[in-house]
Amino acid sequence: MAIDSVDYDVVVIGGGINGAGIARDAALRGLRVLLLEMNDFGSGTTSWSSRLIHGGLRYLEYAEIPLVFESLHERRRLRRVASHLVTRLRLNIPIYKDSKRSKFIIRLGMIAYDLLSIGKKIPPHKMLSRDELLSEEPGLRREGLLGGAQYYDAQVTFAERLVIENVIAARAAGAEVKNYCPVTGIEVRRGTVNGLQYVDLKSGSNFEVSARVIINASGPWVDSVLGIVNRKMPKFMGGTKGSHIVVGKFDGAPRSAFYVEAHEDGRPFFILPWNDQYLIGTTDIRFDGDPADVAPGKEEIDYLLSETNRVFPTANLSSADIHFAYAGVRPLPRHDQGPESAITRKHIIYKHKDDAFGLISIIGGKLTTYRNLAEQAVDSAVRLSGVTAAPCTTRSQYLPGGIGLDDAAEQLKSMPHLSAECVTRLIGIYGSRATELFESPGDSVVWMDSQKTVLAAEVAFVMREEMAVNLTDILHRRMMIGLSPDQGLSLADEIASIAAVEAGWSEVERNRQLLELRNYSAKFRV
Ligand SMILES: Cc1cc2nc3c(=O)[nH]c(=O)nc-3n(C[C@H](O)[C@H](O)[C@H](O)COP(=O)(O)OP(=O)(O)OC[C@H]3O[C@@H](n4cnc5c(N)ncnc54)[C@H](O)[C@@H]3O)c2cc1C
Repeated sequence: MAIDSVDYDVVVIGGGINGAGIARDAALRGLRVLLLEMNDFGSGTTSWSSRLIHGGLRYLEYAEIPLVFESLHERRRLRRVASHLVTRLRLNIPIYKDSKRSKFIIRLGMIAYDLLSIGKKIPPHKMLSRDELLSEEPGLRREGLLGGAQYYDAQVTFAERLVIENVIAARAAGAEVKNYCPVTGIEVRRGTVNGLQYVDLKSGSNFEVSARVIINASGPWVDSVLGIVNRKMPKFMGGTKGSHIVVGKFDGAPRSAFYVEAHEDGRPFFILPWNDQYLIGTTDIRFDGDPADVAPGKEEIDYLLSETNRVFPTANLSSADIHFAYAGVRPLPRHDQGPESAITRKHIIYKHKDDAFGLISIIGGKLTTYRNLAEQAVDSAVRLSGVTAAPCTTRSQYLPGGIGLDDAAEQLKSMPHLSAECVTRLIGIYGSRATELFESPGDSVVWMDSQKTVLAAEVAFVMREEMAVNLTDILHRRMMIGLSPDQGLSLADEIASIAAVEAGWSEVERNRQLLELRNYSAKFRV
């Protein structure tokens, strides 16, 4: 076994949004940080959310006022420091005669949401008459419609990229960041964490490192990570499964996002314009299995299709219209009683005491509040470790692609061979870092697609600069074409050839990578 003698202040287990955010924050404060992810960064729950950066209007029903307030603050911060990834979203709530929530209740909720949003640069809500709503959204079901409410929140089209930017920022600030490195054991000696073991799946080598603090940010895997501690640990998690479907533009499709009450059970769900398609979800069902095996059930898909067809009657959507579907497990604290929707979405930063002093487990959390969660977790880590650290800077510090964004956009727009669509795509994925794809502004460009929006240069860029290891990383979590209607498969061969040259893959390895990518993509088709 190779012994890595480096002593870290903080080792973070899990490279989802929370682990990546924690690693960035800790490294920016001058701590010695190691981030370990067993798969690719952002490949867990973070990729399977509704992709909203929102206050969580629904949480008002459960009087979670501090959570809504925190989320709205974080929404404003993220819109500033990552404006290329987090964009404003207009939503409508239609109100019908038979709606569970009356016009009065929705109006009250909207007023509270506006009040909690004070100081944020987002327009207040509007109550719309039936005619006003129908003139904006003529495809909406008319029968029993009384009117609606319109308000603004935000959307992160590519949550995967938010993770990658945090990882890159952590690395730039001095953290060691490693994907495909599962943690296999955690050692506690005399009640205090001592270190951990991990395997580097790329080389096959085993490592053992010592750490003052270990942060278990493994999302729905928190209990399974606690299961590899060399002593009996408590269990915390009681995840719920949520599924989404992705369809193309349908007859009567809305121009804005919709937040609607399902007829079957009164649960609110979203119909979201997203990535030139529609993202529809979600469900909420208790889940006890391995989070890696979660998949949308047939009944969930039928529920989402039929509820959408009810709100937009000319849509007539069937499973044949689904481009792909996905499911994730919300890493929630265990609550065996009561409805799933009532389980708190507030995060808990649990500092283990005598059983494993120096170990912190992160329970719950939202994409929206990851930055604040990271700040609190690192504050705790600093206190536990006793090391001196600089103050947190992430409230105002831009993510890498958000630095110099306007200048970068101007530079790209001035390149005669780049169409407006191409510039929009590149900025929406890489932010200002898109300029690094061109060694000099006059460089000729090799296109991969007929619309001339995808560049061959992206493949080597994401492998060299963003730690993409295999084709699935490249398509699904870096270039983001894996989330297009054909899951990027029309470009897979060509990308594989470029990646093979870059990584030195043999023909056999190139073909194996293609097969692995196709198998991965197939998991999401229904
Ligand atoms: C259906 C659904 C909809 C949602 N919608 C929203 C939304 O619209 N807005 C919002 O703000 N939030 C939303 N959320 C919540 C949000 O997505 C999650 O809370 C958040 O992504 C959790 O991130 P994480 O980093 O804690 O977990 P994950 O993203 O799951 O990351 C944990 C990582 O730990 C790794 N790991 C596990 N074990 C090990 C090990 N032994 N060694 C190394 N690594 C390990 C995993 O591979 C994984 O990548 C939604 C969640 C779901 C499921």
